[in-house]
Formats: sequence, C-alpha cells, structure tokens
Amino acid sequence: MADTTLQTRLIHSSYTAPGGFAAFPTAIHHASTVLFKDVAAMRSGDWKDKSAYTYGLHGTPTTFTLEARLAEIEGGAHCLLAPSGLAAIAMVDFAFLKTGDDVLLPENVYNPNRELGRWLSSDFGITARYYDPLVGAGIAALIQPNTKLIWTESPGSVSMEVPDLPAICAAAHARGVLVALDNTWSAGLALRGFDLGVDIIMQALTKYQSGGSDVLMGAVITRDVALNDLLAMAHMRLGLGVSPDDAFLVMRGLPSMQLRFDAHDAAARQVAAWLQGRPEIARVLHPAFEDCPGHAEWKRDFTGAGGLFSVVFDARYTEQQTDRFVDALRLFGIGYSWGGANSLVMPYRMPAMRRTWDDAGTLVRLNIGLESVEDLLADIAQALGQMVHS
Ligand SMILES: *Cc1c(COP(=O)(O)O)cnc(C)c1O
Repeated sequence: MADTTLQTRLIHSSYTAPGGFAAFPTAIHHASTVLFKDVAAMRSGDWKDKSAYTYGLHGTPTTFTLEARLAEIEGGAHCLLAPSGLAAIAMVDFAFLKTGDDVLLPENVYNPNRELGRWLSSDFGITARYYDPLVGAGIAALIQPNTKLIWTESPGSVSMEVPDLPAICAAAHARGVLVALDNTWSAGLALRGFDLGVDIIMQALTKYQSGGSDVLMGAVITRDVALNDLLAMAHMRLGLGVSPDDAFLVMRGLPSMQLRFDAHDAAARQVAAWLQGRPEIARVLHPAFEDCPGHAEWKRDFTGAGGLFSVVFDARYTEQQTDRFVDALRLFGIGYSWGGANSLVMPYRMPAMRRTWDDAGTLVRLNIGLESVEDLLADIAQALGQMVHS
C-alpha cells in the first residue's frame, strides 16, 4: 500500500497478522460487513450455512462459537442467539405461530411472555390462553385443533410452581403440538429439558450464563433441524443480532457457571430454611422444600435449585410494612433479574398477576447472591426487626 495516498493508507493496509495464534478465549470479531473472497464465493454464499460467513447479522466466529457451546451444554444440536431473553421468546412465537393459531401459556409465566401473548391475541389474530401450571396431563383437555405451541416454565420464576413436564410433553406430542421450555431458572444445569421431552429450550443468558449483571442476551436451542430452520427464518427476518462483546461476556461466564450455581443453591437453601422458621413468614416458596407446589416434580426432574425463591409474609403485615422490610435491606438491591453475585429482592402484587391467588400476605422474591450467608441472615433479621417495630 506504499504507492497509495496517506488518506487511503488510513483505511487499507498490507499487513496481515500471522496465523496460528492460540489462546483460551474466543476472539471478539466485530463485523457488519463480512468479506467474500470473490464474486463466486458471494453468489454461492447461503446465510443459513454455518460453515461459512455472509453478513455480521447471520454470524461471526464469536457468535457461532457461543451458539455451539450453548447447544452442547443444553444437550441440543442447534442454537440461535437473540439480544435478550425476551427477544428469544419472541423468536419462538414468530417462528411457530401464525394468524389463526393458538398458543397455551402457564399462568405463572414470565410476565413479559404473558404480555407478548396478549399482544398476539389483540393484534395478530392468534389466541393465547393461560393454563394452571400444575395442570399436568390435564393439559390434553385444553389442546384445540389450532393449538400449535405450549410454553412451559419450570418453575414459574415468581410463584415457583414446578410443572409436570413429561406429562405436558406427552399430551402435546399426542396431538402434534410443540412444547417450548423457558429453562432460565436452573440455567439448563439442573433441569435437562430435552431428556424430559421438550422440543424447544429458551434461555435468558442474562442470568447465570453471564453471571455479571452486565449483559442482556437470550438463546433458543433445539435438537431438530427442521425446527431450527423455522427459528432461523424468524431470527433473520426479525434481525436478531447480538454484540460480539456481549457474546464474549457470556462465554467468559460459562466455565464457572456450575460452581456459581451450586454456591447460589446452597446459600439460598440456608436462607430459605432460616426464613421458614420465622414467625413473620407464612410460606416459603422454594421448589426443594416439601410444601412448595410441584415439589414432587422438582424432586423427580431436577438436580439442583439455584438462588431464586420467594416468601409470603404473614397476612397480619400490611404491604406498607413489607415494603419497609424491602427498603430496610442493605445487602439486597431492589431490582429484577438474578444470576449475578449480588443479592436482590423484589415485592410482587400477586392478586393483580393471577386469576386466583389464595395467600393474603405479600409475596417477596429473593435472589441469593454470593455474599456470605451469615451476613445475609443478619441483614434480613435487622430488616424484619424494622418492619415489625417501626
Ligand atoms: C429474565 C428472564 C427472561 C428474559 O430475559 P431478558 O434477557 O431479561 O429479556 C425470560 N424468562 C425468564 C424466566 C427470565 O427470568
């Protein structure tokens, strides 16, 4: 490039770094434009073909590597990334639902998924109906000829019911209906969705995979190439690209994910057991605890629990008082999400979220982070004291 002007040399260079560089981290490839060797290569390029590259939106070595790793971890064969967990949910709906179709969602479903269902119903001519998460084989009675997809979530991430996934999958498959699982609560580590019969697994990588509370991303994983092809069309048509920096952040979290998950799990069980012994708490909603709805299914299907559970306060405490409890916590941030090192807390108004909800006391969800359990318990104890006495 020595014969070009300085202005051109700002853009073009004859230098190429030597090949053969090797290191553990996957390189972060930034690219909108992907270059073709020649016109013939461009003409024969197929954006769906993951053995080659066509455009940044359709994949780079960074995103292909993360997709492959997630598919392996979940026990699937194919994976597509989306810029958030919610975008991954939307990818599934747009891939498998069209006007005139029907989709079933559990009443305890992740709230933005319920909102998407409402939107499909109001504006897209798709019916979205909501079922009791503990319906089990009874889902068969809800399946209509136009039902195409059943969403499941295990457990529901606020009220913590664990559905009978094998029973739901059996009923669905008998009628040719697909089952999608939002497997975010256990990061795919403690619940092996494909082994239980699920067709499509969605993950919010925002949680345990990242582990840093610093990135939003989602994934849809399948075993069946025909399902992946439909998802890939929705992915392309909706333009669901992800940043390579974000993909790197997620990949950086993967090696430590099981260790973090187990640490969250052990700490959360200690905190939940302590809360169960407190007079201020009416119910602890933790799937590993015997009185949690769906505990038998959790015991059968899961190998762990992670850091997220809820408590229901005794009905003698007003919402004003339980809000005071939440505000008084020092080590728990008030915020959505989980899977990072920091403990979090969030109060919910359950009667506004559910058709039927029997508990009169306030539900508060806790995400137990990686702080020491001793400090977390002391913090909760002082906050309960402020709730009761001030
Ligand atoms: C967080 C979450 C999502 C959505 O993930 P985002 O990346 O925040 O969009 C979906 N489902 C469940 C169960 C979640 O907890």
